[in-house]
Amino acid sequence: MPILDGKAIAEQMRQQIAADVEALVQKTGVRPGLAAVLVGDNPASQTYVRMKQRACEAVGIHSVLHEIPADVDQATLESLIQKLNADQTIHGILVQLPLPKHLDEQRILDLVRIEKDVDGFHPLNMGHLAMKGREPLFMPATPAGCMVLLEKAGVKFSGANAVVIGRSNIVGLPAALMLLKRDATVTIVHSRTPEPSSIVRQADIVIAAAGRAAMVKADWIKHGAVVIDVGTNRVDDPTAKRGYRLVGDVDFEAVKDKALITPVPGGVGPMTITMLLSNTLKAAQYSVAR
Ligand code: NAP
Repeated sequence: MPILDGKAIAEQMRQQIAADVEALVQKTGVRPGLAAVLVGDNPASQTYVRMKQRACEAVGIHSVLHEIPADVDQATLESLIQKLNADQTIHGILVQLPLPKHLDEQRILDLVRIEKDVDGFHPLNMGHLAMKGREPLFMPATPAGCMVLLEKAGVKFSGANAVVIGRSNIVGLPAALMLLKRDATVTIVHSRTPEPSSIVRQADIVIAAAGRAAMVKADWIKHGAVVIDVGTNRVDDPTAKRGYRLVGDVDFEAVKDKALITPVPGGVGPMTITMLLSNTLKAAQYSVAR
């Protein structure tokens, strides 16, 4: 079966975003702006933020990085968020998670103005996602990217049997809510679910977001299913330059012959950043429409 190429789909979308950014600038003089707040020196977070900044630059989104020492106190970080909330050149605020343990992450995320919540983590945005008949302003980037991939795969959501593996606030739970909004019949599998294989085997759509390398085996997957592998796990590989390689939650080699599947890397990852760009553009468009 062909694979579901997130990198190619993301590239096409980024070209459209770049064109829409320029159109907005030409029409209104407003250039979308994203502020990234990076607390501490976690190397993975630094890499993610750098990738997001580069992606912004490539589509013409103005990006500002606030690098804050790990020992920052709650009040200082809160006043930075308030300052960014009031800054008219900034349309989206991204707080790179996780924050150091001494900080109240929830309070910080709740403080981001809902119109600038391009990560979609504000409880109001999540609440609207969960409620029938309501639409959030922004949806979390990773599950929103999964939904675009499913659309590109031509999936018929209504009545489909969908299984999401994982229930985190940033991936599993919003992914399940998005599938439900599209009228799929949704089951969430988590760490306390007995015999997950028997549940996953029924699925027409699988979104795997457990963070467990190659946990989903070929005999868990129904022939012809569409499988979105969010998992990004490091496994030791002495032949690789960095001494490790990245693998998903699904045994890709064994599953690719029976299902349409996203690779890792090159699947969900590029889509996540693309959806952040799309949300930032949307935030700027809203700001001029208000
Ligand atoms: P997380 O917060 O650790 O959540 C993992 C979820 O998986 C939890 O709900 C957990 O269940 C469940 N789980 C763990 N082990 C399980 C098992 N053996 N069987 C069934 N469920 C299990 O992780 P996350 O932030 O959602 O991320 C998940 C994965 O996606 C990670 O590999 C992460 O690196 C990757 N990711 C990729 C992107 C991207 O852009 N490509 C973005 C975000 C995350 P409980 O709730 O019961 O503990």
